[in-house]
Amino acid sequence: MSVSVRIALQKSGRLSEDSYQLFKECGIRFDYGTGKLKSISSNFPAEFLFLRDDDIPGYVEDGVADLGIVGENVAIESGRSVQTIHRLGFSKCRLSIAIPRGNDWSGLSSLNGKNIATSYPNLLGKYLGEQGVTAHIHEISGSVEIAPGIGLAEAICDIVSSGSTLMSNGLQEVETIFRSEAVLIAPPSLIDEKQALVDKLLFRIKAVQVAKNNKYIVLNAPNHALEKITSLLPGMRSPTITPLATKGWSSVYSVLNENEFWENIEAIRAAGAEGILVIPIEKMIY
Ligand code: ATP
Ligand code: ZN
Repeated sequence: MSVSVRIALQKSGRLSEDSYQLFKECGIRFDYGTGKLKSISSNFPAEFLFLRDDDIPGYVEDGVADLGIVGENVAIESGRSVQTIHRLGFSKCRLSIAIPRGNDWSGLSSLNGKNIATSYPNLLGKYLGEQGVTAHIHEISGSVEIAPGIGLAEAICDIVSSGSTLMSNGLQEVETIFRSEAVLIAPPSLIDEKQALVDKLLFRIKAVQVAKNNKYIVLNAPNHALEKITSLLPGMRSPTITPLATKGWSSVYSVLNENEFWENIEAIRAAGAEGILVIPIEKMIY
């Protein structure tokens, strides 16, 4: 039987949609949803397992899966021997300490001897240790934000993205201890045939990610302005320039990082560019 990679994804949660979308954009087709636990890709040697995110690092460490997507917070908290092989840029969040709004806060030392409720005892313990703070960590598996209100703890340490959950529970964020995003994890080593498939997949993922950060730019410019404009649009190698039917004018085609584009757009216009089109790129391969 030919080799395939087994990839563990979160069944349903904050990582799921973006994870499924990523493989779709890499041209890898598979079915998901309707309670499916596993699915085989119809056009890539890959099998997908749909699991709870907390179980994924363990499955990857044990070799049940060859790859997994989890929040970096979960990968590290698990303490499993897995390596982060690529950062995926979605499900960004932070792990922060919060206390009841209005309580005094004079830095981390305020937590000495206090009770802190969290679902991340390892990440929190490590951070407090590094900062020289000794507190009691109460591990609870969910609804951490109600702990101060019911007298279980004086502070909490939990995932925050917008801060609205903290706010509605009368809490204020006082210290960020970890910044997380979705990551691709793998066991410390794979057999060569599987590693070759993982490399193929990584190549596609990188092409998709680079494309997202870049735009294809098309504009018209008077010939006397071309030198100035092309210096602002370096492109992959150099821009393509073709003459327009209107004498003395050319079209310029280039690829630019989206941030650079916004930084340079005024100068590009001031130099005489007209009819500027900014077009999304689907894949980009250097
Ligand atoms: P499961 O049922 O699979 O155990 P869960 O409830 O533990 O799911 P989710 O809430 O789906 O997990 O979060 C999964 C991951 O998404 C978290 O570990 C974290 O990395 C990230 N995350 C959590 N909350 C947010 C948020 N508000 N915004 C962005 N990312 C988040
Ligand atoms: Zn979970």
